[in-house]
Amino acid sequence: MIRRLLLFLSNRRWLRPLITRYPFSRSFAWRFIAGETSDTALAAVAALRRKGVASTLDLLGESVSDERAARRSAEDYLALLDEIHARGLESHVSLKLTQMGLDLDEAVCRANLVAILERAREYGVFVRIDMEGSAHTQRTLYMFTDLRREYEGCGVVVQSYLYRTAQDVEDLIAVGARVRLCKGAYLEPEDRAYQNKGDVDASYKRLTERLLDDGVYPAIATHDPAMIAHARAYVQAHDIPLDRFEFQMLYGIRRDLQESLAAEGYNVRCYIPFGAEWYPYFMRRLAERPANLMFVLRNLMREGRRI
Ligand SMILES: Cc1cc2nc3c(=O)[nH]c(=O)nc-3n(C[C@H](O)[C@H](O)[C@H](O)COP(=O)(O)OP(=O)(O)OC[C@H]3O[C@@H](n4cnc5c(N)ncnc54)[C@H](O)[C@@H]3O)c2cc1C
Repeated sequence: MIRRLLLFLSNRRWLRPLITRYPFSRSFAWRFIAGETSDTALAAVAALRRKGVASTLDLLGESVSDERAARRSAEDYLALLDEIHARGLESHVSLKLTQMGLDLDEAVCRANLVAILERAREYGVFVRIDMEGSAHTQRTLYMFTDLRREYEGCGVVVQSYLYRTAQDVEDLIAVGARVRLCKGAYLEPEDRAYQNKGDVDASYKRLTERLLDDGVYPAIATHDPAMIAHARAYVQAHDIPLDRFEFQMLYGIRRDLQESLAAEGYNVRCYIPFGAEWYPYFMRRLAERPANLMFVLRNLMREGRRI
């Protein structure tokens, strides 16, 4: 119930200023977001690298409202790629197609993405296309598979809660695409997605096995100890070398696990979001864990009494 409500509110623009203006929610958000500027995010990349954890940078933003905003997002990514290169840092970037204009005009979105893929190729930076709500799945996969023919240094994301993902994974394996597997973070209807955790987890395990068997350097993106234990047991039982896949986790979540897996010799990558457009991302993280919500609400009420 709470998860559904928070995911519903994550798309409501009117709520955004109410949440983001409170100093407490800002400071709590910094647990999950590496600040609003590329300077703080790039510092996080360097700090994680010292602990043996690699990075992918996400310049927050999604569902832009006009073509100019989409173009600005692409330019911000180009500047980010320039900075990664100039500082000699190693990091992937992750982006969302609705941030590049997918909902406005597919040609605009494609042109923005191509500009980013060109610059990323020049610098040898890998680009991951995040997966958004199911209304975007088909168009995202289509644009990805089409552009991947020319730009090999990119990958996509699939979500284990969607029924369609078993077939999508087979199709992506068939073309040798690099896939990040996650559970899925959006509000989805019963006719498209598993609704209970047991089913989502069972699907996650099946897809992990398929990707570990036949995928190209899959990314197992989860903080769930049961999913991680399952992947570890599977690679051990099937003699899959540790350099054939990586674990991925989100910035600020289970840092202990990120570091301990890296220390054990697993490839681990942290997804580092940053930027001013943090409201929807923050709400999705609250939705995943009721304890986060209770903590925020208690403190907002305290601050509300003071403001
Ligand atoms: C690297 C990465 C990239 C992702 N990219 C996408 C994407 O492109 N599209 C998409 O739909 N989703 C994406 N997600 C989000 C994903 O779909 C899940 O919503 C999220 O990872 C929570 O699921 P879980 O696998 O950690 O398992 P869960 O069963 O949700 O959580 C397992 C445990 O992890 C910890 N945990 C999980 N979430 C939180 C939190 N917010 N705060 C504190 N602790 C937490 C808790 O200990 C919890 O018990 C991504 C996740 C990761 C790690």
